[in-house]
Amino acid sequence: MNSPGPLSQKLFATAKELIPGGVNSPVRAFRNVGGEPFFVRSAKGSRIQDVDGKTYIDYIGSWGPNILGHAPAVVTNTIHEVAKSGVSFGIPNPFEVEMARTITEWVPSVQKVRMTSSGTEATMSAIRVARGFTKRDYIIKFDGCYHGHSDSLLVAAGSGALTHGEPDSAGVPKAFAEKTIVLPYNNPAALEKVFAEQGEQIAAIIVESYPANAGFVLPKPGYLDLLSSITKKYGALLIFDEVMTGFRLGKAGVQGLENLTPDLSCFGKVIGGGLPVGAFGGRAEVMDMLAPVGPVYQAGTLSGNPLAMAAGLAQLKELSKASGFPRLEELGAYFEKGLHRVFTERGIPYRLNRVGSMFCLFFTDREIVNVDDVMKQDLELFKKFFWGCLEKGIYIAPSPYETGFLSLAHTEADLDDTLTVFEEVLKGI
Ligand code: PMP
Repeated sequence: MNSPGPLSQKLFATAKELIPGGVNSPVRAFRNVGGEPFFVRSAKGSRIQDVDGKTYIDYIGSWGPNILGHAPAVVTNTIHEVAKSGVSFGIPNPFEVEMARTITEWVPSVQKVRMTSSGTEATMSAIRVARGFTKRDYIIKFDGCYHGHSDSLLVAAGSGALTHGEPDSAGVPKAFAEKTIVLPYNNPAALEKVFAEQGEQIAAIIVESYPANAGFVLPKPGYLDLLSSITKKYGALLIFDEVMTGFRLGKAGVQGLENLTPDLSCFGKVIGGGLPVGAFGGRAEVMDMLAPVGPVYQAGTLSGNPLAMAAGLAQLKELSKASGFPRLEELGAYFEKGLHRVFTERGIPYRLNRVGSMFCLFFTDREIVNVDDVMKQDLELFKKFFWGCLEKGIYIAPSPYETGFLSLAHTEADLDDTLTVFEEVLKGI
């Protein structure tokens, strides 16, 4: 059995009695690598320490939010300060306005934005507003794209749903799922066919701007432009799910990199500085469909929470001040070069998809263009690699379908240490 230290084991045994599977989000159970998780005591910078006192260089960063590294002083000091004046009001507070101002300034397609407490709420609400605006019911999503766990979107989803081999969840009424059309990603013909047949019934396409929940898959040239033009042609909306990529791959996320203007965008992770957050926004006329202005209902007791807003704002300010994005690209390129050397020297087939600080390593030599390619890699090799790395203090995602993240707290020395471990582990496999 692959399991971390005795305190983690003890905690997990108790957790399993009290929490389904012992975890509050499935991927944390390490099922996909056949073992048990460690429990965290603390984290700082690029490192995590478990309850047994072992330290790991971390390549998850809380699954994306911690772009400055763990517990950066700018964020933790802000949280301490703001908390002294209250932690939740349920009445508008100035941080919400500043957050809305920052998001709309950084992402030009967003004229108005509403905050939520998770990415799941953001995508669920964006779908609702798209349906309300277009007065149509059908949506299109892509195989392997994960948009959180709301009913309409938990169909052929990636992330935990994929790793557990249950792309369709029990408990989602068939009648809901039927309104979600699932298409293969990077396949223009499949998209054109559906629009030709029922384009007038389609409210929206929702897409992970760069799909990162079933490996990390990049769009073929022209594919995102097609999503944009076909939705315009048929009067449907294009929803970019930038929960992972937003504020990580540049100030305006993937839409900035690709020079695209989606109708609606969803955010989360980085904009909360590690506190629970999400947001969705877009064209003013679409967003004004929301209550209390329009007929589409959407709400949240903790939405716009002052701590989450202030923590997120502090993080965003630091990110822009420190020329954070070029530095993240520099680190990513350094890591990529090293990985290439390590795998080539050992003659082990691999693929690396990387943009800036997001990367995914695949144990295969086939090109990765969609979830089918991702599934065909050597999963047993991945498992061995994962446990070998963990034992030597390197924490990569406990699943071959998850994307890794670098942070501004990572250094070239961290990356060198990591590459040395990769070399040792590959030697032993
Ligand atoms: N969309 C994407 C692209 C995501 O990666 C995630 C979470 N990993 C979500 C939506 C859901 O966000 P949350 O877990 O905050 O509900």
